[in-house]
Amino acid sequence: MLHVQTVPGLTRAWTEILFKPVLSSRRLGSTSSANQAEQQDGACRGGGQHDPARRPGRPGRGVRDDPATAANEISVDFDQSREAYKSKDSLELLRSLVVFKLCSYDFLVDKNKEIMDLGKKILGQKAFDQLMKMTFYGQFVAGEDHRAIRPLIHKNEAFGVGSVLDYSVEEDISQEEAEQKEMDSCVSAAEKESIGENHREKKYKVHKQFGDRRGGVTGARTYLYSSEAKCDQHMETFIKCIKASGGSSVDGFSAIKMTALGRPQFLLQFSEVLVKWRRFFTFLALQQGIDGTEALKQRLELKQLQEFLTKMGAQGDFYGCFTERKVDSLGTIDMLDWNSLIDDRIKMSDLLVVPNIELGELEPLLKKFTMEEEKQMKRMLQRMDVLAKHAMENGVRLMVDAEQTYFQPAISRLTLEMQRIYNRKKPVIFNTYQCYLKEAYDNVTMDVELSRREGWHFAAKLVRGAYMHQERERAKEISYEDPINPDYESTNRMYHRCLDYVLDEIALHRNANVMVATHNEDTVKHTLSRMNELGLLPTENKVYFGQLLGMCDQISFPLGQAGFPVYKYVPYGPVNEVMPYLSRRAQENRGFMKGAQKERELLWKELKRRLASGELLYTPMY
Ligand SMILES: Cc1cc2nc3c(=O)[nH]c(=O)nc-3n(C[C@H](O)[C@H](O)[C@H](O)COP(=O)(O)OP(=O)(O)OC[C@H]3O[C@@H](n4cnc5c(N)ncnc54)[C@H](O)[C@@H]3O)c2cc1C
Repeated sequence: MLHVQTVPGLTRAWTEILFKPVLSSRRLGSTSSANQAEQQDGACRGGGQHDPARRPGRPGRGVRDDPATAANEISVDFDQSREAYKSKDSLELLRSLVVFKLCSYDFLVDKNKEIMDLGKKILGQKAFDQLMKMTFYGQFVAGEDHRAIRPLIHKNEAFGVGSVLDYSVEEDISQEEAEQKEMDSCVSAAEKESIGENHREKKYKVHKQFGDRRGGVTGARTYLYSSEAKCDQHMETFIKCIKASGGSSVDGFSAIKMTALGRPQFLLQFSEVLVKWRRFFTFLALQQGIDGTEALKQRLELKQLQEFLTKMGAQGDFYGCFTERKVDSLGTIDMLDWNSLIDDRIKMSDLLVVPNIELGELEPLLKKFTMEEEKQMKRMLQRMDVLAKHAMENGVRLMVDAEQTYFQPAISRLTLEMQRIYNRKKPVIFNTYQCYLKEAYDNVTMDVELSRREGWHFAAKLVRGAYMHQERERAKEISYEDPINPDYESTNRMYHRCLDYVLDEIALHRNANVMVATHNEDTVKHTLSRMNELGLLPTENKVYFGQLLGMCDQISFPLGQAGFPVYKYVPYGPVNEVMPYLSRRAQENRGFMKGAQKERELLWKELKRRLASGELLYTPMY
């Protein structure tokens, strides 16, 4: 087989933690009929599945349960201020207006950290915290801990809106500290020793000037590695979050970030392996004269592949390796068959010999891991496994957030491994796809196809992507291809293309699930219209919507009132510790508020309506 540099710990860790259960669950054989029965049975059931029927605020406006007549009748009005703000008293509306207005002043947003520090000094911690709770914190954060957030979760639920709990504490450290932490955690001991012998690509190496991953990121919080004990703490926090989600609703989600659970070095290295592996397939396809088609449509002729690899110096029976498994009658394989080599090679170390396309030869990616690094990697996989099990036990779905492109292939792949194990009967683990990526469509279609072949529930959150500026700057500075679509319009097209593909898949097999996570009203309307065309009912609980707490209530609440499964990402955590995250959220809102006046106009409209009709003291009843 391929020339091997051995990394026994990696092999063992994978085999023990991931592949064994994967293989054993696959050995259960074809579950398609069982799956189908389960789906039909579970489509409108609780226990981890969303059940809008229990929601008091669900009058089902414009929605019918009869599939034959429901098509073309789903309609939601996003201009109705009364419907949008039914869950809010007038003080809350006023707070939203003030906060959004403040977010539109460049000076306040740019200097928000300094202003907050001054505020703390003048007012003292207690009064400052109170002020924050009445303003920014109160607008965007649900409370300090899982007990404090319950009233808000229940209220939103009563008005048809569920929760994705998102513990948002972020370390308040300086840029220098952040850079140092990243430098220390993204290089292996072996790499530190072997100067001049480094095979890693620029993109998958740590670069000091981009070590502070918080730079330019507004909508997401960032974890920087400091120790294994800290990762255990993060895991415990996520477990609490899962339990809180299970305890406060029957159909909740809990969000996690993989970078919180281990050393980023492993994510970097594994991402590089996956990307090179995939790129090599494309290279081989080119050798066979296949070019310009979608990744999933490319097929390699096996005999030619064997000849080519042998010519390159690879010692191994690729032909035999594939013909042992399922190969089509024409003797060809596609990208998924190719990727399956990663699953079935018990010796993961085989993988770590990767093709260098420029040199046209195979080369080892890693020399060796130290014992400590092997342990760190194994612990990361274990932590993920523990979280997935807790999610299952608590009837909670786990939403794995997407992060930077140099980590994301590994994050997505590890999530997929969890889906293979835990999504066999119902969707428990949700992956995230960032549609600002040029490769988003290939990623989505390949994973959907894999779920189809293997008989598990595809489950995904579709977002546009939060790290655009940072990604662009890094690619430019370090000289690799910008992974982001060239402009906003192409990101929009990509989003709708991926979304349409998943919606079609749902219509065809009723097995996939998607959360349309966006504040973009056009995209929400597009989804509703496609659902109409395809006859997909909100009550089937296959298509969900997601917005961030404190933003775009005029989208979330009318959707919820109309019976659509809609969720708010609900950040929570102590005031002091959530402030760094909130401070960056203020920057997001600046752009958001400059671009979209509609939310403020609707807030005004509702306040004026209440004033005119004597409802200024309106209290939401639930
Ligand atoms: C519930 C929820 C969960 C989320 N989870 C994640 C997550 O896990 N990972 C993550 O990365 N993000 C996540 N996000 C953030 C998301 O990716 C977007 O940054 C944010 O929602 C804004 O996009 P939009 O569709 O709401 O709005 P829009 O205003 O329609 O889109 C703005 C987005 O378009 C893209 N864009 C803007 N200008 C350009 C350009 N010139 N070229 C190419 N693309 C451009 C960018 O992605 C930008 O954020 C989440 C958002 C929500 C609502």
